[in-house]
Amino acid sequence: MNEVTYNGMTFVPYITNEKINARISELGKAITRDYADKKPVFICVLNGAFPFAGGLFMNYEGDAEIDFIRLKSYEGTQSTGVVKEVLGLQRDIAGRDIIIVEDIVDTGHTISNLIKGLEKQNPASIKVATLLFKPEALVENVTPDYVGFEIPKKFIIGFGLDLDDLARNLNDIYVLKD
Ligand code: IMP
Ligand code: MG
Repeated sequence: MNEVTYNGMTFVPYITNEKINARISELGKAITRDYADKKPVFICVLNGAFPFAGGLFMNYEGDAEIDFIRLKSYEGTQSTGVVKEVLGLQRDIAGRDIIIVEDIVDTGHTISNLIKGLEKQNPASIKVATLLFKPEALVENVTPDYVGFEIPKKFIIGFGLDLDDLARNLNDIYVLKD
């Protein structure tokens, strides 16, 4: 049992790095097919999505660009419900096909706010790719287009996901022990 402990909380292994990478490769192939005649812009939501975005982008075959945006909505293991845009987009996305890349869609507040913000810049299309999705926690009317894994409403860490900025460098995903 290789449990890990952060801030006095114990986590147990949940999704292996091998499974994560296999799934990212599948999603990369699916996105490559769907955008065959296009040149999408991947928008990575920092900080959590950077390992997923890196993998997804490297698995995309064809012309594509990547950019980064930083948002924050969580403190500890609870959503604060307040989404602050900390670092904005540096490019013109008018007429472009956007793929937002998120680590996890929980209540959906973050992603729905981000979609609303990006829509003001008149992109040709916006789709959402998320490594993890908690359907039971969803309160906003958004459905991610590409989902790595659907998971129950439990707190997880690793592969980019943090507990107060720690644990992002765990290669596997871990879940909070009951
Ligand atoms: P939402 O706005 O409620 O959908 O939350 C999305 C953001 O909350 C994600 O981008 C994560 O940063 C964070 N988050 C949600 N669930 C978890 C979790 O289980 N572990 C770590 N971070 C999480
Ligand atoms: Mg995040």
